[in-house]
Amino acid sequence: MGKIFVPDAQTFPAQAEVVIIGGGVLGAATAFYASKAGLDAVVLEMRDSLASLTTAASEECFRAQFSEPENVAMMKASIAVFENFAEVIGIPGYDISLHQQGYLFYTSDPEAPEKLRAQVAHQRSIGLDDVEFWTGDEVRHHFPWASPQVTAATWRAKDGWLSAHELTYGFAKGSQARFLLRTRATDILVDAQGVAGVETNRGTIATRTVVIAAGPFSGQVAQWAGAELPLTILRRQKCIIAPHPAIPQDAPMTIDLSTGALWRPEVGGAALGWSNALPEEPSEPIENVPTDWTFPALVLEEVMKLAPFWEKVAADLKREHVFLSAGQYTMTPDHKPILGPYPDVPGLFLNVGYSGHGVMASPEGSRYVVAMITGEMRPEDNPFCFERFARGEVCISAEKMVL
Ligand SMILES: Cc1cc2nc3c(=O)[nH]c(=O)nc-3n(C[C@H](O)[C@H](O)[C@H](O)COP(=O)(O)OP(=O)(O)OC[C@H]3O[C@@H](n4cnc5c(N)ncnc54)[C@H](O)[C@@H]3O)c2cc1C
Repeated sequence: MGKIFVPDAQTFPAQAEVVIIGGGVLGAATAFYASKAGLDAVVLEMRDSLASLTTAASEECFRAQFSEPENVAMMKASIAVFENFAEVIGIPGYDISLHQQGYLFYTSDPEAPEKLRAQVAHQRSIGLDDVEFWTGDEVRHHFPWASPQVTAATWRAKDGWLSAHELTYGFAKGSQARFLLRTRATDILVDAQGVAGVETNRGTIATRTVVIAAGPFSGQVAQWAGAELPLTILRRQKCIIAPHPAIPQDAPMTIDLSTGALWRPEVGGAALGWSNALPEEPSEPIENVPTDWTFPALVLEEVMKLAPFWEKVAADLKREHVFLSAGQYTMTPDHKPILGPYPDVPGLFLNVGYSGHGVMASPEGSRYVVAMITGEMRPEDNPFCFERFARGEVCISAEKMVL
């Protein structure tokens, strides 16, 4: 069982086979797969608990509805882990609050039926055989709350959401790793062979393998070892609405394809989000991400266009029914993560840049990283390698920015 603790002089490790910087969902998943591979892993988390930064801000959703084969494969494998999580981590009965209530991408665009039929045909051709095209009437048949304006949708029943907190702690508890809380990495030591250790506020850990999983701080951490990563940091907000009888609790994750505004049920109420609500400039990574109280009004106004019951909810809302939080996306130019070795520094590995999909891809992305550490996966077989940027293989905005 993984040990999660604040170390003292006696328990602080002098060395480890792998040091993972960051105790969010990706650091914990990396530690789990490293332990499974027989590696002695130590995770450094500067905060008081795991999963307390970006992972805590997440909408916690997952989907396999992507359009590129490597993304579809990664998400299908990750969802299979979620579906069998207790067994995977070896803790009978462990519960991650898995809700497979589906993902509905719908729209009022009159040209959508043709476009979405073609998209679904493409997705099926790359292995997503359970994605469906729905007409507007089919959407309303399944979900009577949908507006008469809805013209078409894509649907996958096995998409959904979970508890990102329980997922992170499950990976940690199911591992054999040590998780050092309130332990801040301050430098990565490099010698002629490559990575040589990690300096922290509590002392130095000697290691030949470091994995950077520091969320929005990953770019800054990589610079300590001389690595420049193409990461951009963007604020994203989430709004939780307290329980209201008009919010259908059997609804799926529901996304307006034209705008990206989204909502899903959450314990009697709902979680809402919208990447395009406000213009966001790239920023520095920070721990306390400010919220903006214009956000709830903007997102409510948007979601009520295709789901009119939101008008009733909005009319009844009081300030104390709305809970706002914010975190930061760590974006790459093609919106896909950077996984595996950093080519110029032997022993330096990356598990970063998930561009808003780090919870859903955490199992398979982290498994890839560990498979490259152990040599089980060849870096040239890795579609998420760092070198794709140097080779100019990046096509911008390959996948939609919605969750
Ligand atoms: C509003 C919002 C909604 C989102 N919704 C979804 C969603 O529905 N589905 C989805 O898949 N993804 C979603 N995401 C993205 C997802 O939350 C992230 O991709 C994921 O949490 C990244 O995990 P992480 O472990 O890399 O980052 P984090 O959770 O940020 O963890 C990194 C950790 O590293 C620690 N750290 C940093 N520097 C150091 C250091 N020097 N020393 C020690 N520790 C350090 C930090 O304290 C932090 O705990 C959303 C994000 C936001 C902001």
